[in-house]
Amino acid sequence: MGRLDIRQLTKTFDEGENVIVAVDELDITVEDGDFLVLVGPSGCGKSTTLRCIAGLERATSGRIRLDGRDITDAKPKNRDMAMVFQNYALYPHMTVRRNIGYGLKITTDLDSSEINDRVEDTAALLEIPDLLDKKPKELSGGQQQRVALGRAIIREPEVFLMDEPLSNLDAKLRTTMRTEIQQLQQDMGVTTIYVTHDQTEAMTMGDKIAVLDGGELQQLGTPLECYHEPTNQFVAGFIGSPSMNFIDVERSGDTLEAGAFSYQISSETRNAVDTASSRLTMGIRPEHIELGTAEEPNAVATEIEVVEPMGEMTYAYFTVGGATHTASIDGERRTVAGEQVHVVFPEDKIHLFDQADGAAIK
Ligand code: ATP
Repeated sequence: MGRLDIRQLTKTFDEGENVIVAVDELDITVEDGDFLVLVGPSGCGKSTTLRCIAGLERATSGRIRLDGRDITDAKPKNRDMAMVFQNYALYPHMTVRRNIGYGLKITTDLDSSEINDRVEDTAALLEIPDLLDKKPKELSGGQQQRVALGRAIIREPEVFLMDEPLSNLDAKLRTTMRTEIQQLQQDMGVTTIYVTHDQTEAMTMGDKIAVLDGGELQQLGTPLECYHEPTNQFVAGFIGSPSMNFIDVERSGDTLEAGAFSYQISSETRNAVDTASSRLTMGIRPEHIELGTAEEPNAVATEIEVVEPMGEMTYAYFTVGGATHTASIDGERRTVAGEQVHVVFPEDKIHLFDQADGAAIK
């Protein structure tokens, strides 16, 4: 079992006069066997959270429980967790065989032939049996990453903790390893917490993702919940690539306005926003913007400024309401910079956020 319960976790660092709140009253539960991704921009507190869970940092306040057992103050080696680091942290003078087996050697009383059997099974699982007698410096980045994974796997922990494990690999290898880590995690059914700043990794790998900003949890949900029903503008803008488009608008009755931009809302939308302030931010995902005709409701005349053909999709950039927007349009539809178009933001696809606190209203 490996159900992890994080309650009101707070970690501060005293820097002379300043107190840095790296993690701020975090509440997260990870169910046994789940893959949770902690995602957010640089400095949002992901690594500190993971290090508190691992016992490498001491929590300032709050509790961490594993299957009901309070491990907040337990030594790292008594937590039944294995961590994989960004820089792999392999022992340079040891062979791959010894690197993978070392954890078992120091934490169990298995004899050397039992350890060797487990090392060979692990190497077979990771498809690196040929590397066992090499030293880390003789390995590629991807191979070193497999050895680092092997070191974690062999211990059969309750929880895997992974801190940006793929960030030193090139884009192609990263994609391959992403799938392999997911497959391994599913086969082993081990609860995993995975830190990344890469929203694509978060979307594709996590059963759940926890989006952090400024040490605070912004949203905890499945990738699709965070994508389709973001709780606030930060999550809406962080999850999704290219990012959601935003326009700051002022509501006047049934109309949202930003300079010459004017957007009529239905009574249903109006009811949703009635209690919020009149200063709103409208959001629309690139793939929800349509190129339509002047007759369509809320069509806006504009000019395509830049075109980026991606093959299947073309990204078209244009300005509406004083803000640059990206539309993701079918690659089959030919478009060129300078083309005059009418863009349509379908009302059932728009998001509205309160400008005061960024909270999602619709
Ligand atoms: P990155 O993606 O850049 O690694 P992160 O989201 O993992 O960022 P953390 O490394 O957890 O963020 O840092 C959160 C905040 O805590 C930052 O402001 C950082 O400067 C600060 N911080 C982290 N460790 C320490 C430390 N040992 N001493 C002082 N401040 C720290």
